[in-house]
Amino acid sequence: MRTSLIALATLSFSCIAVPAAAGEDDLEIYVIDVGQGDSTLIVGPEQEDRHRSSLLIDAGDLGNFGKPDGAKLVQGILNQAKVGELDHVLLSHYDADHMGGFVTSKPTKSAPMGSSSLLWTRDWGQEGRPCEPTAFFPKVSIIDIGDPVKKSNARDEWLHCVPKITKVRPKVEHVGIDECAKINHSIDLGKGVLARIVAGRGCVVGNPDKHKSANTPNEMSIAVLVSTKGGFDFLVTGDLIGREHEDALANALSQTTDLEILRTGHHGAANATSESFVTMMKPEVAFISVGFNSYDHPHCDTFNALQNVLALQTSGEHPKDCNAVKDKKHLIANGTIRIDVDVEGEDYEIHALPETSSSDDETIKFTAKCMIGDGCKLGE
Ligand SMILES: [Zn+2]
Repeated sequence: MRTSLIALATLSFSCIAVPAAAGEDDLEIYVIDVGQGDSTLIVGPEQEDRHRSSLLIDAGDLGNFGKPDGAKLVQGILNQAKVGELDHVLLSHYDADHMGGFVTSKPTKSAPMGSSSLLWTRDWGQEGRPCEPTAFFPKVSIIDIGDPVKKSNARDEWLHCVPKITKVRPKVEHVGIDECAKINHSIDLGKGVLARIVAGRGCVVGNPDKHKSANTPNEMSIAVLVSTKGGFDFLVTGDLIGREHEDALANALSQTTDLEILRTGHHGAANATSESFVTMMKPEVAFISVGFNSYDHPHCDTFNALQNVLALQTSGEHPKDCNAVKDKKHLIANGTIRIDVDVEGEDYEIHALPETSSSDDETIKFTAKCMIGDGCKLGE
């Protein structure tokens, strides 16, 4: 971020009904509106002799108890993105608002069908029946944080079904980020686009030891850095929290990375995305993946930390009585936001996709044109 403050001041709404289609040479990133939860789809550029590579990070919530159904919302975006099968799936950690779309829930009186999984089908009438993979079970790799002790039904189903399916699909690599040596695992998305694991299980890149203060499920979140040869960098931090742990990551990354987009940690919570983290990482744009909730997400402290950064929120509300939000161009899309990155050049564009809201609210349409290292302004 160098001159983005001035550039951001020119950002404004536009009335473009349908965003321009991304070119097939572009890297596409979809920050999916799954309500209170997380999901990011990354589609690599067109490559000779093969289809575009795809990586799905998290898949929103289970869809029970009146929450938005992550599996359905993500599938809608996969259809829009023309992704018929996934190459890589990454689960940042075992919280229901991130893994709900990947697993099923048992039928209840209020939800007699239970909820569906994007990755497999299960017949709850017959306990122990093998998990049957769907078309979206990844073809190349499936990545998680291994087997930490905190148990939940969703976590137990993941740890039951993933090994069962990968056993009969030996070409699919199951990578557990269960030790610091596994940080730096990279996924090649074509034409020089790399998705690199930079934190996970309490470890950060460039440090051989687990961080002592990182013990909770959120602190174990996997963080992924997506980079192009042209210098575009996008960091997804799952539910990463904790000043010391975050700062250790920023210390390691800021030596080599000039960040364009930060996907803020833990839905914009007060205990994530500190001012020192933002100062070190220097993002031009921040995305907050959040829905209506009772946890004070996103928090005013997060907007204070992001005061020189354009903050785009998928859904939910801005914090009340927060001066850092007033008179700023921060937007709530009420829908999925797509970033198109020219992998050969120096520009990227941001669009809200119409009719992709996780709630009944209408999607706010906007578009922004951005230059790597130079912020964003109204495009088209
Ligand atoms: Zn979460």
